[in-house]
Amino acid sequence: MSPTPAKRPGGGRPPSQRPSKPCAHCGLPFTWRKKWERDWDQVKYCSDRCRAAAKRDRP
Ligand SMILES: [Zn+2]
Repeated sequence: MSPTPAKRPGGGRPPSQRPSKPCAHCGLPFTWRKKWERDWDQVKYCSDRCRAAAKRDRP
């Protein structure tokens, strides 16, 4: 019997298996975060700053 693994952040997934995608504004890849677990499909920007900047570009 093996010991129970410690609970980690990231929905139980190791960091290397978390999904990532490029930011729709700056193009830099960003990695899944716990706060996006419910709407990862809708997340398009790496940060609030990029989201605000993109909104400003095309209202
Ligand atoms: Zn960005």
